[in-house]
Amino acid sequence: MVDSTIGLCRLDEEVIAAAEKVRFFERPLAGGKGSELYTPEGGILIDFSATWTAAGLGYGDPRIAESAYRTLLDCPGLGIGSLINGPCLELARRLLAITDTAGYDRKECGRRVYFGHSGSDANDIAIRLCRTASERKGGGRRVLAFEHSYHGGFGEALGLSGVQVEGGAREDRCVTFLPYPNRTDPHVQTGGIGDELDFCLNEARRVASDGGAACLIVEPILSDGGMIVPPDGFLSGLRSICDEFGIPMICDEVKVGLGRPGTVHAYQHEGIHPDIVTFGKTLGAGLPISAIVGPASIMDCAPGSALLTMGGNPVCASAALSFLDVLLGDDLARQAREKGRHLEGRLRRILAERGGRASLHVADVRGRGLAMAIELDDRESPERFAEKVCYRANQLGVVVYYVGGHVLELTPALTIPYGQLDDGADMIVQAIVDVADGAVDDDKIRGFGGW
Ligand SMILES: *Cc1c(COP(=O)(O)O)cnc(C)c1O
Repeated sequence: MVDSTIGLCRLDEEVIAAAEKVRFFERPLAGGKGSELYTPEGGILIDFSATWTAAGLGYGDPRIAESAYRTLLDCPGLGIGSLINGPCLELARRLLAITDTAGYDRKECGRRVYFGHSGSDANDIAIRLCRTASERKGGGRRVLAFEHSYHGGFGEALGLSGVQVEGGAREDRCVTFLPYPNRTDPHVQTGGIGDELDFCLNEARRVASDGGAACLIVEPILSDGGMIVPPDGFLSGLRSICDEFGIPMICDEVKVGLGRPGTVHAYQHEGIHPDIVTFGKTLGAGLPISAIVGPASIMDCAPGSALLTMGGNPVCASAALSFLDVLLGDDLARQAREKGRHLEGRLRRILAERGGRASLHVADVRGRGLAMAIELDDRESPERFAEKVCYRANQLGVVVYYVGGHVLELTPALTIPYGQLDDGADMIVQAIVDVADGAVDDDKIRGFGGW
């Protein structure tokens, strides 16, 4: 048992592989409940990340714990490879019922669900199945993805993650990265929002018209790339292009789907119907489970080709069923909408009150629902500034990370109480003021820089 902060930090360094970590500050954790995390010394941190959105209901929700525990004690096998189980069948039925994909129930042969363990495997397998289905019809393997996107940490999902490929990960030669409408990206910035949208859609159309595309994959809100909310018309524009050239459209809802954007799915903002939707992170509300919903023509094209021994684990499926009960029963989408509006209002108000120093370093406050962000502005070294703000915020009592180089990502649990939402927002603004005043030295964040 290692109980001191220093001990845990040293152990982290000595025994945990660097390949699976990005550390923003040093304080380790001992427990958590709701939107609070506890340090070994009894300190309380308000969690504004929710483990990168995975903890959509916060930590320790008894409804999730009870359903998982019940299934664990009386368990119908551990996977659906060779034995089907009730929780998975029910979960598949429920996911199909809430996910409106491109009218496949009316034409062709219906839709199917695939269960994995993480957003990465869901995207990886969705892409692989699209490529196989395309090749079987004499089509190509090319995947259309987006610059600054994130779809996973391994396999085909890694090779089409813009942020990873831009950071040096091996590029998949059969991927074309398209521009995402992004006001902060100079080469996309052509003038007004309308011009930028036209530019991006024209590029997508030009590449799609070359033929050979097996699918297009898009995040309806580009989250790891900097919490970019695309202008209206982007998703529906992509949908028309995909329709025109017969390209299956995948919406990656792993991070901001399932209530967070103020609707059940982020793609619903534009009323479109993707062909395939991938889910992960908060789906299991604390247990690892992911899902792909898509047409049988793709999902059934290669039987037995994507086996995971514990795919369709009934314990995780039971937790996910309870999560969906809460999502719909407590109208988490409405909560996210209202809390997001409240958070944005409070941030804008305190930034205005603080006047000069804090707002000088804030370029933008944006988001949709509880997928919010503060874009920082420090021309001299924007990344160092963001690193220091995360570090300082943690000292003050809040867990927050940055994405896209210099954008604080604010994605608390959808169940966060208003009091904690306010306290967290206040501490984050205070952290920006403190860092602007030089509160964090460069050597403090050595080893805790984030990305
Ligand atoms: C996190 C994330 C993934 C990968 O999910 P893991 O659970 O980390 O495998 C895929 N897509 C998006 C948009 C994500 O944010």
